[in-house]
Amino acid sequence: MTKQIQNWSGAVRFEPAAYEVPETESALRAMVAEVNRGGGRIRVIGSGHSFSPLIRTEDRLVSLDGLQGIVETRDDGQITAWAGTKLWKLNDLLHGLGRGLENLGDIDRQSIAGTVSTGTHGTGKAFGSVSTQLTGLRLVTADGEARDLTAADGDLFRAAQVSLGALGILTQVRLRTVPAYKLKLVQRKESASACLSDLDRRARENRNFEFFTFPYTDVAQTKEVNVTEENPSSHFGQFLNDLVLENGVFKLLSEASRWIPGATPIVAKICGWGVGGATKRDWSHRIFRMPRLVRFQEMEYSVPAERMSDVVRELMAMIERDRVRVHFPIECRFVKGDDIFLSPAHGRDSAYIAVHSYKGMPHADYFRRAEAIFRNHGGRPHWGKMHTLTGKELGALYPKWEAFKEIRAKLDPKGVFLNDQLRSFFA
Ligand SMILES: Cc1cc2nc3c(=O)[nH]c(=O)nc-3n(C[C@H](O)[C@H](O)[C@H](O)COP(=O)(O)OP(=O)(O)OC[C@H]3O[C@@H](n4cnc5c(N)ncnc54)[C@H](O)[C@@H]3O)c2cc1C
Repeated sequence: MTKQIQNWSGAVRFEPAAYEVPETESALRAMVAEVNRGGGRIRVIGSGHSFSPLIRTEDRLVSLDGLQGIVETRDDGQITAWAGTKLWKLNDLLHGLGRGLENLGDIDRQSIAGTVSTGTHGTGKAFGSVSTQLTGLRLVTADGEARDLTAADGDLFRAAQVSLGALGILTQVRLRTVPAYKLKLVQRKESASACLSDLDRRARENRNFEFFTFPYTDVAQTKEVNVTEENPSSHFGQFLNDLVLENGVFKLLSEASRWIPGATPIVAKICGWGVGGATKRDWSHRIFRMPRLVRFQEMEYSVPAERMSDVVRELMAMIERDRVRVHFPIECRFVKGDDIFLSPAHGRDSAYIAVHSYKGMPHADYFRRAEAIFRNHGGRPHWGKMHTLTGKELGALYPKWEAFKEIRAKLDPKGVFLNDQLRSFFA
């Protein structure tokens, strides 16, 4: 089967030579072994929500949409799921079992395999990326064998926890879960400069703290999320706020900016002025997710946590100084450090800072300027977001880069799982 593929943002478009959706793990293993024997190449797609061209291939593309659901639950709360399971489905299944994941990012459309493979994260000083919630995984390697890996496998496991589909295809993941819990979100409009001066306390005192700063203003929207025993709040008002105000009005303003680029700073001020407060209580997975109906391009870097305020101040100053045509706010989150080889949070508690640009508006110049600031603070790019780094530059940022490359070369000597981008990084 052939198929035109495009990612969520529309920036990555291609037609693979073949598109396959295996219904069983054994069919997938046979396919991988055959491609390997024939000297072909294979890439795997989750939900296509990465902004970077990780899924692009002119060869064979595989989707694990046919392998979804929970395979096993354990008394200690660990669960095993098929790797193609979409997050929204996994959350619903877990909720039905009275369980939940300890932390998540801000949408739930991704597959769990795609989520962990790029180090997808939420926010919270005490929480690592979703990849840190993995306790095991099953990896189909180039020879078609399925290997079950856990922390007991040491380096091999730590390499596979964030592996961009470069070591093989994940068919199952085992995750730590916690009893289902409710969260209360309190959203406020604040002074950005005051917020930036008090980040340590805010991040320490709230389970999940994040904020957005609005270009050309001193406005921040803060989000404090904490566990609550209170009942879920009514959804209708929130639904109106999320869909009509946050997405509908924002879409109209974004279109105005696209048609009259010179008005972008004014649009940015209107966006900052229009930020409202809100409170919402619900089960955790419904609080973490936000509707994202306005499409954009995104670059996100992780820097050492203590650099958050400096980087955000520099970005805001750069936007004003260079009259950058951007009205999207800068998104700022905290993530706990880990020991995963290719995790951008490897070895350090991190601040993740993201810049966005409305789909259809030029983003390259803004992202280039932002990237220079991120890199100046020791930034490492999010694997699923846009960046311009070469393998050599990436290698200098990761202490375990060479170790990852060695493992990859052993598992897949012919580069069956590499596309052009990954070959330039690892081969
Ligand atoms: C609107 C939006 C909001 C987002 N919010 C966040 C956020 O809050 N936090 C954050 O960190 N990121 C966020 N992201 C980025 C997103 O979480 C990542 O890019 C994620 O990888 C996408 O998952 P996916 O299932 O779409 O994977 P894809 O983009 O399809 O693939 C990503 C990578 O995973 C590999 N992969 C997929 N399936 C498998 C498998 N079975 N075995 C091995 N490798 C596999 C692919 O080959 C590729 O290298 C967001 C993206 C969008 C578009």
